[in-house]
Amino acid sequence: MNALVATSRNFKQAAKLLGLDAKLERSLLIPFREIKVECTIPKDDGTLASFVGFRVQHDNARGPMKGGIRYHPEVDPDEVNALAQLMTWKTAVANIPYGGAKGGIGCAPGELSSSELERLTRVFTQKIHDLIGTHTDVPAPDMGTNPQTMAWILDEYSKFHGYSPAVVTGKPVDLGGSLGRDAATGRGVLFATQALLADHGKNISDQRFVIQGFGNVGSWAAHLISESGGKVVAVSDVSGAVKNSSGLDVQKLLKHSVENRGVKGFSGGDACDPNSLFAEDCDVLIPAALGGVINRENANDIRAKYIIEAANHPTDPDADEILSKKGVLILPDIFANSGGVTVSYFEWVQNIQGFMWDEEKVNSELRSYILNGFRDVKKMCQTHNCDLRMGAFTLGVDRVARATVLRGWEA
Ligand code: GLU
Repeated sequence: MNALVATSRNFKQAAKLLGLDAKLERSLLIPFREIKVECTIPKDDGTLASFVGFRVQHDNARGPMKGGIRYHPEVDPDEVNALAQLMTWKTAVANIPYGGAKGGIGCAPGELSSSELERLTRVFTQKIHDLIGTHTDVPAPDMGTNPQTMAWILDEYSKFHGYSPAVVTGKPVDLGGSLGRDAATGRGVLFATQALLADHGKNISDQRFVIQGFGNVGSWAAHLISESGGKVVAVSDVSGAVKNSSGLDVQKLLKHSVENRGVKGFSGGDACDPNSLFAEDCDVLIPAALGGVINRENANDIRAKYIIEAANHPTDPDADEILSKKGVLILPDIFANSGGVTVSYFEWVQNIQGFMWDEEKVNSELRSYILNGFRDVKKMCQTHNCDLRMGAFTLGVDRVARATVLRGWEA
């Protein structure tokens, strides 16, 4: 299912539960601004290459717009639009003073050299520098981008506007990045999983986990889960998949994956088919890669009791229905992966204060935000007699709707 159709369907269901009027519903759904730019760069061999870049600024009723920039071949306008909308609900669920945005460039970052990526990032920044800013729209890393990408954006932006570290988050620590930001999405996934399991009288240490995706989010989640005693029984990434029913040695797998650019060939487990990963026997399934991967084709094969959405929109609404009938509980993306943007907020606050927090403070503040989020989502589930996805959507949409009405924008 198209990402924008899926996301908007969830939004509309939440708007109905909240009884929003049609005018307000429409104004919340339509993005504030959609930017599309052509980025042409010389390649290292002297030829020219063109890429299309996007920034969708969805909503700013609660504060500056916020969201990552993704470099991936599948970046397209509908996908970026859906991701921007999800950021609006996500920052509201996390209760941080932001709206939502998302950007992306359609490219295969693995096929570009570091200097080509730098030129591409600088050209993209030149084209959008007037539309981003510390109090308007604050980019961050997403799939295919990292702290170095943010350093290039900061440097290019500063040529036009003066040095402004708070214009991006997820920066290298040497340039004002926050301690703990790199691990934050994965750590938030750990805290969110602990909250859900505790609610069911369970612990990380008595659960078996399958993790799809071993990039920044999946690998940190795997590391922190195994450190907390959880058994990670299967992992996949673009290179392949490995499983071990007595638990993978995540430390060794991380080392193997860095040295071999993927989990494929890891000797501490058996190779398995990445396409049948979701059918592996486990208690908790964590999709931590692309959207739309759990759909009507594979939802019936899932054996997990819980799904923690570390990725953005990994489950489409058809699969939601099938899984709900099977009794599988889903902790939705706009809550489960909010740890990244929450620590981005801490980074922005530290930059504005000109004061650096230690990592313990970052992690303990993150824990409080996630626990408060879980409490607030559960309260909405009770009020509207709905599942966790609708609990999170009604919470996020309601907070944005209130701010919109207070500012007199609903007309
Ligand atoms: N890209 C991350 C997300 O999807 C983080 C965004 C941010 O830190 O602004 O939530």
